[in-house]
Amino acid sequence: MSSEHTTSFINGEFIAAAPEDEDLDVLNPSTTERITTVKISSPEVVDRAVAAARAAQDRWRRLPQTERARYMIAIADEMQRRHEDFVVDLMTEQGKVRAHAEGEVGKAIGYFRYMAEWARRIEGEVIPSDRPGELIVLQRRPIGVVAGICPWNYPLFLLSRKVAPALITGSTLVIKPAEDTPINALMFAEVCAAVGLPAGVFNLVLGTGAVGAAMSGHPGVDFVTFTGSTATGAKIMESASKSVTKVSLELGGKAPAIVLKDADLDLAVEKIAESRLLNNGQVCTCAERVYVERPVADEFIKRIGERLGRLKTGDPADPTVDVGPLVNRKAADRTRKVLDEALAAGATLVAGGGRVDSPGYFFPPAVIRVDDPAADILYNEVFGPILPVHVVENVDEAIERANDCEYGLASSLYTNDLNMTLRVIDELQFGEVYVNRENEEAIQGFHAGIKASGIGGADGKHAIEEYTTTQVSYIQRH
Ligand code: NAD
Repeated sequence: MSSEHTTSFINGEFIAAAPEDEDLDVLNPSTTERITTVKISSPEVVDRAVAAARAAQDRWRRLPQTERARYMIAIADEMQRRHEDFVVDLMTEQGKVRAHAEGEVGKAIGYFRYMAEWARRIEGEVIPSDRPGELIVLQRRPIGVVAGICPWNYPLFLLSRKVAPALITGSTLVIKPAEDTPINALMFAEVCAAVGLPAGVFNLVLGTGAVGAAMSGHPGVDFVTFTGSTATGAKIMESASKSVTKVSLELGGKAPAIVLKDADLDLAVEKIAESRLLNNGQVCTCAERVYVERPVADEFIKRIGERLGRLKTGDPADPTVDVGPLVNRKAADRTRKVLDEALAAGATLVAGGGRVDSPGYFFPPAVIRVDDPAADILYNEVFGPILPVHVVENVDEAIERANDCEYGLASSLYTNDLNMTLRVIDELQFGEVYVNRENEEAIQGFHAGIKASGIGGADGKHAIEEYTTTQVSYIQRH
C-alpha cells in the first residue's frame, strides 16, 4: 500500500474515522486481493469538507496568482519525488501496465506545471464604452468552492485536471475519487500536506456514488466538475439544478476510427491498436469502432487482428505483459457478456477475447468483424478492449455511420488526402477529431465532448474559463 492513510482529508489533516463510518475495500484487480480498507465519508464529513473549502476561499483567492503558482510547482515537485510510489500504486489499484502508469503520473505532474504558467496570463478586458468617460472592465473571478467527482480510469490525471485550474484561478476544492481507486488521491492529499498547501484549499472525501450525490446537491458548492459515465452525469446535472449550480460534465464516448482506402495502413493499424489497448481498453476517447473502406478492409482486419491478438494479458507487475486487468469484476463480466452477445448476434471473432488462467479481472483484447450496421456493439460504449470493425462502401457511409451515435466525444480519420481530411472534419459531429493519429489531448489544447458526451471543456485557456466567472464593472468618470 502506498498511502498510510484511509480517511478523508479536511482542513489540511486526515480526520479520525468515527466508529459508525462504513468500510470500503480496495482490491488489486490483478489478484482480487484486498490492498486496504478505507472509510466512507458520512454526509456530516461532506458538510465539514465543504465548510473547510468555503472558509479557505477568501484567503486563497486574495493570494497573488504567482504565490498560488508557487504552491502548484511545489506540488508538482513533490509528486515527482514520489513518482515511483504513484506509478506502483496505479499499477496495483487500477491495473495499468508500467508504461501507461508512468504516462499518467507524468501527465498529472505536467498539468500542475502547465497551469502554474497561467499565473501571469489570466487577463481581463477593457472595452470601449458608448458613454463618454466610461470604462467597461471585465475581470475573471474564482468560481468559489469546487466539487470534483472523478472516475477510476485515469484517477490521478483526472484529479489533477480538476485541481490545477481551480488552484491557479483562486478556487478551493472538495474531491471525491472513484470507489475503486482512492489510494492515489490519498497520496495526493499527503503531497498537499507535505508542501504546506494552506488548510482547506484541497479537501478529500471518500466513498461511493452516494457521497458524490451529497456533493453535487450541496448548497455550499459553486461548481460541480464531473468525469464519468453519461448516466451519472445526468443525475449530477439534475441534483445541481436544484441550487442552479454550474456543472462541467466529461462523459462517455464511442469513438469511431475511419480508415479510407488511401490511408497508410501500417500507421492506421498501429495507432488504432495502441489506442484500443491503452489502459487495458478503458479510455473514453479511444477508438471503440472502426469503419474501413472496402478496398483495404480485408488487409486492415487481418493486420489489426494479428497486432492485437499477439499481446500478452496479465499482471502489470510482470514487465513482459502488454495488457493488464479490467478495473473490477463487474467490468470484466460486462465485457465478456458484450463479446458473447455480439458473436451470438452474428459478428465474427478475428482475434483475441480468450481467457486468462488467473482470478484477476483479465480480458485479452478482441477484434471482431461486424457486418450488421445496426449491431448494438457499434452503438453502445463497451469501455473494455473489444474492437468492432465494420466495412463501408465509401466515405459518405463512414461519416453517416460515425455520426449515428448518441455520443460526440472523440473520432479519428486515416487518409493522406488533404481535401478529404478537411471535408470529413467538417462533417464529423465530435468534440475531438484526430487525423492520422489517435486520442491524446495536449494540455494546451482542448478536451470536450458534444451530444451525450458532455458539457463544458478542459485544458488550455478553456480550463481557465471553466473555473472562473466573469464580472463586469462600468466605471463612470465625473
Ligand atoms: P461512473 O459514472 O460510474 O462513476 C464516476 C464517479 O461518479 C465515481 O466517483 C462515482 O462514485 C461517482 N458517482 C456514481 N454515482 C453518482 C451519483 N449519483 N452522484 C454523484 N456521483 C456519483 O463512471 P466510471 O465507471 O467511474 O467511469 C467510466 C465512464 O467515465 C465511462 O463512461 C467513460 O467514458 C467516462 N469517462 C469520460 C471521460 C471524459 O473525459 N469524457 C474521461 C474518463 C472517463
